[in-house]
Amino acid sequence: MKVEVVEKIDRGFEIKFRVGKESEFKRNTLFQKVEADDSESFRIAGGEALKRVEKSIELGFLNISEIAISEKKYLREVIEGILLAHYSFQKYKSKVKKSPILKLFVKGSKESVKLAKTVVSATNYTRDIVNSTPNEMTPQRVAEIGEELGKKKKLEVSRLYQKDLKEEKMELFLAVGKASVNSPTLLKLAHRKKGKKKVLIIGKGLTYDTGGLSLKPAEFMKTMKADKSGASAVLGIMKGVAELDLDVEVVGFLGLAENMVGGDAYRPDDVIKAKNGKTVEVLNTDAEGRLVLADTLTYAQESEKDFDYILDIATLTGAAVVGVGEYTTLIMGNSEKVKSKMLKAGEDSGELVATLPFNRYLKEMISSKTADISNVGSSRYGGALTAGLFLNEFISEENSKKWLHLDIAGPAYVEKEWAYNSFGASGAGVRMVLQFLMNLEK
Ligand SMILES: [Zn+2]
Repeated sequence: MKVEVVEKIDRGFEIKFRVGKESEFKRNTLFQKVEADDSESFRIAGGEALKRVEKSIELGFLNISEIAISEKKYLREVIEGILLAHYSFQKYKSKVKKSPILKLFVKGSKESVKLAKTVVSATNYTRDIVNSTPNEMTPQRVAEIGEELGKKKKLEVSRLYQKDLKEEKMELFLAVGKASVNSPTLLKLAHRKKGKKKVLIIGKGLTYDTGGLSLKPAEFMKTMKADKSGASAVLGIMKGVAELDLDVEVVGFLGLAENMVGGDAYRPDDVIKAKNGKTVEVLNTDAEGRLVLADTLTYAQESEKDFDYILDIATLTGAAVVGVGEYTTLIMGNSEKVKSKMLKAGEDSGELVATLPFNRYLKEMISSKTADISNVGSSRYGGALTAGLFLNEFISEENSKKWLHLDIAGPAYVEKEWAYNSFGASGAGVRMVLQFLMNLEK
């Protein structure tokens, strides 16, 4: 949908937002109800208004291809809600169903419009990648998409192929991808800005996760194309960072692999040496994301110096979804200050986020009698935290307070519509992390 800034709202159909009062259609106008006077309520109302107008066009009650909006205070949010709700994924359909609205006219700040458009475009770009199927989105293909993005947006690009991963002694990463004909790869993208804050972002990119030999039941395997949501979010974030030309140095890392079964698959009981020298006893091959992340985190810390924050983003645990439901990202780390920055970014961007605290007793749960640590907790409880603590083992002492782990297993892919999100990938993490980075500029 095109968004144009105009001087006066005097054309065609208009949407007006009002807090508290019921929605109603009047001549050439939709008065859209807004639950409360806050930014997220306006985002939701924007999405609702668009759906309502689209439905009326579909049913033949309205015949328009343009809408106008005169909201001032929450202009950015309203546009975001509308553009996010406008998203549909029809890549694999032979006949594409065209959405009726073509143009959106707004009055107000060009900055707000640009911000809304860029943030949504980054989010929808991520949604497209996540929604794309695993027979198309192999580790190679996702890396190529990243390389194309890097070229287009003038980002620094480098890539490690399977033989390079071997040279870098990233045996955990390699083990996960071993049984797939689509070999694992690591992509690095950088937006360089000297002298400002510097942030590393590491994304889990399991282009498909069967669970490996600890095979998932058929019902649980469905939607596992979304196990690349973390890496796809990193791509969206890098796109947004480049387009907004943020005054923050940002380096993204995508750990891309496919977890399959085969004669050379890694097994439960294997002990594998990580890039940072620690030995890991594999007790469940379905806890593979943390293995890919472990080596990618080590590589990131070794290849970049003098950074202020190191974030990882991953669809990591079912336990996170059990704990807080399908809509909320869980964050974990060793610094209250960094956590509160991400909570603020969640609030500002409209993404739901909650913190989960580590404690001194949990660490025992990932101990191993055979190796330094094991890749799953010894109890059925606290699975999101023990996954977080596993990653913590791969964060060096000096970076401990700079690190934040984002588990997006809940919101990344939801099999129903919710708020302004359509079925499928939501682009979880993109809006929040972009906001986190924008807040660092101030
Ligand atoms: Zn898994």
